[in-house]
Amino acid sequence: MTQKSLISITGRLQRLLVSFSAYVLLIAGLMILVFELSHQRHILHSQAQTFAVLIAPELASELIADASVASGPLLQDYLSEADLLGLYVYRKDGSEYARSVKPEFAQALPTPSFKLRAQLNEAHQISLDLFEYSLPIRHNNRLVGQLYLQYGLATIERQMLLYFVSVVLIYALLLLGMYLLSRRILRRFAEPVGQILTVIDTVRTTKNFSLSVPENDQYCELNRLSSDLNWVLQQANKSTLALQAHQQEIEQHIYFDPLTGLVNRRMLIQRIEREVVRAKRTGQIGALVYLDLDHFKAINDSLGHNVGDAVLKSVALRISKAVREADTPARLGGDEFVVLLPELGKSESSAAHNALNIAEKIRQAISTVHQLDERDLHVTPSIGIALFDGEKSDLENLLMQADLAMYQAKEDGRNRVQFFLKQMQEHTDHRRQIEESLRQAIANDKLYVCYQPLVRSDGAVVGAEALVRWEDEEEGLISPSAFIPIAEMTDLICYLGQWVLTDVCKQMAAWEDQGKNLVVSVNISPREFQQTDFVEQVQEIVLTTGVKAEHLVLELTEGILLNNIEAVSGKMQRLSQLGIRFSLDDFGKGYSSLQYLKQLPLSALKIDQSFVRSITTDSNDAEIVATIIAMAQTLGIEVIAEGVENREELECLKHWGCQLFQGFYFSRAVRAKRIHRLIRRTGKHSLQPAPIASLMKHQFSK
Ligand code: C2E
Ligand code: CA
Ligand code: CA
Repeated sequence: MTQKSLISITGRLQRLLVSFSAYVLLIAGLMILVFELSHQRHILHSQAQTFAVLIAPELASELIADASVASGPLLQDYLSEADLLGLYVYRKDGSEYARSVKPEFAQALPTPSFKLRAQLNEAHQISLDLFEYSLPIRHNNRLVGQLYLQYGLATIERQMLLYFVSVVLIYALLLLGMYLLSRRILRRFAEPVGQILTVIDTVRTTKNFSLSVPENDQYCELNRLSSDLNWVLQQANKSTLALQAHQQEIEQHIYFDPLTGLVNRRMLIQRIEREVVRAKRTGQIGALVYLDLDHFKAINDSLGHNVGDAVLKSVALRISKAVREADTPARLGGDEFVVLLPELGKSESSAAHNALNIAEKIRQAISTVHQLDERDLHVTPSIGIALFDGEKSDLENLLMQADLAMYQAKEDGRNRVQFFLKQMQEHTDHRRQIEESLRQAIANDKLYVCYQPLVRSDGAVVGAEALVRWEDEEEGLISPSAFIPIAEMTDLICYLGQWVLTDVCKQMAAWEDQGKNLVVSVNISPREFQQTDFVEQVQEIVLTTGVKAEHLVLELTEGILLNNIEAVSGKMQRLSQLGIRFSLDDFGKGYSSLQYLKQLPLSALKIDQSFVRSITTDSNDAEIVATIIAMAQTLGIEVIAEGVENREELECLKHWGCQLFQGFYFSRAVRAKRIHRLIRRTGKHSLQPAPIASLMKHQFSK
């Protein structure tokens, strides 16, 4: 029940009570008046009767004597009787004998009623202003005449007026009393109940349980009701607050990143959806800014996860400060952040201009040195931007576009901002296509392995590098440089690597069975090596193919070393225990850290071909290569120069002390059966290299 209805019910009750009392009192008053009227009439009747009976004998004697003249003064005396206005005496035959009328009423009084005065018994009648009485006058039981009296009602009227006034007064007083009583009830009962109901109503509509009802101790029950309600509200409030806290916690979990407090992917997608709808309405263009920290993994690995987390928090804070109120910074996970920038302008050029400004501001904010734990840390982001308007409905695609642009920024040298361009999408689509075809090629055995000889300075073939080839029916021979990076983006590289390693080991085992031993190096991508069961996989392949592990070299790149160096070293040790050796590929291209060389069980390093290419033209590169060779010799690690294409390069390298070579100058990578001819039959455990002269004769093209 609402407060209004209660108040209205109480009001109705009050009105009902008052009007009921009014009616009852009115009826009572009227009844009193009616009773009084009849009582007065009765009195008047008695008065008239007494008077008539009193004067009747005297009048009878007069009538008998028929002394009408004498009775004149007598009748006049009778008029002194209270309220008597007229007195008439008639003879037996009905003729008037005498009359006496108060002069002031002579005109107003009606003619005596014939019907009344013809009565043989006493009779009376009353009208609005007159009481008429008639009595037959007898003498010795013999009718001698008729007495007829007319009484005025002034006294009765006065009396009745007095009564009426008193009744009305009493009536008004009683009504007032009733009214005051009901008001008091209203105030004492309805108002507190009204307050209770108001609170209940407000709680119902606002769900705010922190309200309370004022408690007063006038009426025990009402007070208990108020205090009990307050108790219930308090409990509900406590539960609601606890529930809200829980809900907030859950929402925080569902929609926010616990580390940085930024919104997470789920919430970001919702906000993008909302902004796309708004963009449709307003015609405004917005942007997604996708950013990834450059070499963040190195910070995590070298300084630990606590520092990594602190950097992420600091970056999140810088992003939040750099953007507008309406923008939404989000963390997707790892070191990837996205900022949603709505309403950047109605034209593409102004929106792009604004987005670029904000992205540049973010880039600069992040690139400023971070002071964490009294340590100065430098972090830079690579940033991609994708614009959106109301027409963009594929949100995942939008995110992917910004991501692609970010990748482009990375490829372009990192710490820069790049817009998404249509070509990038085409590039991705192309990449996806290749990935799918490669998957099928592996499944359908469309790949094969070629071997590029590893040549010693005396010209002997001391080993080979296994290089995978893909011959597609439509595309022809596809270069590994085209498909390996694509395979490396997904776990496809693990599948491919396992296939290559198995194929190579089978081949080596077959050669070994023929008494031909060749050391073969197999390229291992970082993602392959990072598999938790990589050691077990290699072990199983070695065991099942029966190849001699000491003939197997795994070529790793520095990319692997960016991970936890201890874990990497552990894996390498376990494989070394089997007899497998390692060489560090593309040395000089990446970080080329000397520390790695000392920490890891490496047997060789391969100088990247880009250096070899320029040793004859670039004195700087020549110096670097000479230093690498000298350094490796000091550490007792073999050096292999790859990409040797001419005698000049070979001579230079030989001059600096390099003894192992690989390159088109000697041979391209060739099919197994061709390299097979180069491998000399040797004793079971020794490796007798084939002389370079025999190799030169072949000059393989493929
Ligand atoms: P890489 O490991 O640096 O392999 C050497 C690449 O240099 C090979 O290219 C080889 O054909 C090429 N090469 C050798 N000598 C010369 C030369 O004198 N001049 C020039 N210009 N190039 C020379 P390829 O076979 O196209 O392989 C490219 C890359 O693909 C390899 O670079 C390697 O990183 C990757 N790759 C090839 N096979 C595999 C594999 O089975 N697994 C993995 N993970 N990667 C592989
Ligand atoms: Ca290699
Ligand atoms: Ca290489």
